[in-house]
This record gives sequence, C-alpha cells and structure tokens, in this order.
Amino acid sequence: MDCPACKNAMITLELEDVEIDYCTDCGGIWLDAGELELLLNEPDKAKILLESFRIGSKSKEKIRKCPICDKKMQKIIVGSSKPVLLIDKCRKGDGLWFDKGELQDIFDRAELDKDNKIQKLLSDMFGYN
Ligand SMILES: [Zn+2]
Ligand SMILES: [Zn+2]
Repeated sequence: MDCPACKNAMITLELEDVEIDYCTDCGGIWLDAGELELLLNEPDKAKILLESFRIGSKSKEKIRKCPICDKKMQKIIVGSSKPVLLIDKCRKGDGLWFDKGELQDIFDRAELDKDNKIQKLLSDMFGYN
C-alpha cells in the first residue's frame, strides 16, 4: 500500500496483534476500519471517541486519497478540544489516516488508562512525545 501523503510504499507493523501500515518517510499511519477500536482496547472510551468524529468541511489541509480505493478522503474533526485535531477518513469506510503524531494525539485525548499498553508501544516504536 502506498502512503497517501508522500506515495512511499508503507511497511506493515504489528502492534498488539493489530496490523498497521506505517510510512517510514513521513511517519504517517494507516489503520483499516475497526483497527482503531482494537488498538484502544477500551470499548467504552473507543465508542466515545468515535462518536466525537465530525466532518471538518472547512479544513485547509491538503485532501488525501484513500490508499485502498484511491478516492478522496474526508477530513474528520476528533473531539472538541483545542487545537483541532483533524484526521483523514475514507468515505467508503476503508479506514483512517493519521499524520505523524496524530495517532498518539488521539490516544492522549481518549484519556486511556495510564497503563494502557498501546501508548507505551507507540512511544517506544515511533519516539512520540
Ligand atoms: Zn509518507
Ligand atoms: Zn477507501
């Protein structure tokens, strides 16, 4: 699969039995549909987070194309906190695209338990924070 941001071939990484696609060039991460929920591993918080998704129609961010169906993705605003966090979502529901640091940002906003494994894994693997 090619990176929607820089067109590099992404590599597949396994995080807690979830396969994620990672671009070593720009640090972006692609998650197939349902993988974010799996990574969050806290169904209640995942639900609150997903329900906070709103379409960000006025975004000035560059439109990206879905790496699976090659259609233009939608900008999605996550939560209501500032600064606004925008991610890209395939309109057909193939998955979600996170620019470098955005996935970590989402986990911070989801207020996961301090010992949530995924947050530690991410910082170990990608040096976030
Ligand atoms: Zn990239
Ligand atoms: Zn798609």
